[in-house]
Amino acid sequence: MPLDRLWFDPAQMFIGGRWIAAAATLPLEDPSTGLGIGTIARGGRDEIDAAVAAAEGALLGDWGRMSAAERGRILARIGQLVLARVDDLAVLEATDVGKPLKQARADALALARYMEFYAGAADKVMGETIPYLDGYTVYTLREPHGVTGHIIPWNYPMQIIGRSVGAALAMGNACVLKPAEEACLTALAFARLAEEAGLPAGALNVVPGLGEEAGAALSAHPGVRHLSFTGSVAVGQLVQEAAARNVVPVTLELGGKSPQVVFADADLDKALPFLVNAGIQNAGQTCSASSRILVERARYAEVVERMAARYAALRVGPAMADLDVGPLISARQKEIVEGFLALSSDLTVAARGRIVEDAPAGGHYVAPILLADVRPDHRLAQDEIFGPAQVVIPFEGEEEAVAIANGTGYGLVASCWSENGGRAMRMARRLRAGQVFLNNYGAGGGVELPFGGIGKSGHGREKGFEALYGFSTLKTVAAHHG
Ligand code: NAD
Repeated sequence: MPLDRLWFDPAQMFIGGRWIAAAATLPLEDPSTGLGIGTIARGGRDEIDAAVAAAEGALLGDWGRMSAAERGRILARIGQLVLARVDDLAVLEATDVGKPLKQARADALALARYMEFYAGAADKVMGETIPYLDGYTVYTLREPHGVTGHIIPWNYPMQIIGRSVGAALAMGNACVLKPAEEACLTALAFARLAEEAGLPAGALNVVPGLGEEAGAALSAHPGVRHLSFTGSVAVGQLVQEAAARNVVPVTLELGGKSPQVVFADADLDKALPFLVNAGIQNAGQTCSASSRILVERARYAEVVERMAARYAALRVGPAMADLDVGPLISARQKEIVEGFLALSSDLTVAARGRIVEDAPAGGHYVAPILLADVRPDHRLAQDEIFGPAQVVIPFEGEEEAVAIANGTGYGLVASCWSENGGRAMRMARRLRAGQVFLNNYGAGGGVELPFGGIGKSGHGREKGFEALYGFSTLKTVAAHHG
C-alpha cells in the first residue's frame, strides 16, 4: 500500500484522542531498499507529559468508569477491525520492518487474536474471598495500575502491542505507547483502529520518538504506575533504574540465546524445519530466536549436514518478494551483525544462504550463516547476535546438554528433541528458561501461552491470562461487621 493512501498520517502522534503533528520529525526508511519513504513524529518530554496527562484524564472519565464487559466489547471490535485490515497491516509491517510479507501477515493475525483473547478475558479476572476471623468478611479486588507505559522494539511491533497494550487495556489501565523509532507505522495504524472501535480518548496514546528522548521521558515519568519494556538488556537496565526511582513495577522482556537440544533419539525429520526456521525467522531478529543448536555426538554430523542443505537453499531478498529471509532493520544492525560474524574466523562455516541478485543494493541484507564445531564458551555461542546466524555445538549425554544449554546468562526459551518421553520431561524441568518446548519450537506462538524470561532475559510475564495479573494490582478488603 503506498504510504500516501494510509488511513492515518504517519507523521502524527495520537494523544488524548487527537492526532497531533510533532514539532520535530525523524526519517522513515524502507530496510529492503535503504531509501527514505517519509517522516515520523519525534515526540519528546512535552508530548510524553501530554500523553500521561491524557491517560490520567481517561481514568477519571468514561474509560475509568467502564465495566469490564464493555472494555472487552471494545477490544473485540478492535480485533474485528484489525482482521478487516490484515492485508494492509501486513504490507505496512513488511515495508517498515523488512520482514517477508507472509510473516508480517502472521503478525497481523496474531494482533487480532490478542484482541480476541483479551476481549474474552477482560471480565473473567476475579478476586477471592478469604476465610478469616469471626466477624470479618475478607475479599480481594484486582484493580488496574493506572497509567501504564509501554516501550517496544521494532522487530515485532504488532505482536508486542497485542500482548502488552491488549492485556493492559483489558484490565482497565490507560496506556502510553512509545514505539521504536525504526518501525512505528503499525502502532499508529492500531491506534486509528482503536479510535474507530470506540476506545475512549486518552485510553491509548501513541508517541513515536527516540529512545533517549521519548523513551527515557516515559520511563522516568512520575505519573506512570507500571512499565512494560521489550528490548535490549542495556536499555532494560536503564528502564528498571528509572522504575526503581519512582518505585513502580516493571516487566522486562529482553533478549535470549535460546538453545534447541537434539538427542540422538530425536525424530530428525520432524525437528529439522524447526531447527532452521527458529534461527532465520525475521532474519534472526527475534528475541526467542534459537541461535544455538546442541546436538548429541552420535547424530552431530548428520544434523549439521541436513541443516546445511536447508541453509544452502535459503533465499534473501526484499520483504515484498516474500522469500525466506528479508533484510535487517537498519545499516546499524547490519554493522553489529557483521561485527559478530567477523569473530567466526576460527569456526567452520557449514553453509550460507544466498542474497538474490535483484535485491536492491541499498537494502540491509545479510546471508544466513550456519557455524559448526562451536565451543560453548565462544562469543558467538554466548552473545545475542540478533541476525540470521546459528551455531551448532556437539554434546555427550544429558548432563553435558543441560550444562551447555543453561550456560549463558539468558533464559528465555529452550527446546528438547527426544523420543524418550522420560528424558524429555526431565529436560523440561532442568532447562533454565521461561518457556520450554518438547519436540517442537514455539508451539505456533500461541497468544494463550505465558511468555517471559529469567536471568538476562528479563522478568515478569506477558501473554496468556498471566499477563492480566501483571497489568493489575491486588487489593485486600477486610470488612468488620461483628
Ligand atoms: P532497544 O533496547 O534498543 O530499543 C527498544 C525500545 O527502547 C525502543 O522503543 C527504543 O526507542 C527504546 N529506548 C532506547 N533507549 C531508551 C532509553 N534510554 N530509555 C527508554 N527507552 C529507550 O532494543 P532494540 O534493538 O530495538 O530491540 C532488540 C532487542 O529487543 C533484542 O535484545 C531482543 O532480544 C529484544 N526483544 C525482546 C523481546 C521479548 O519479548 N523478550 C521481544 C522482542 C525483542
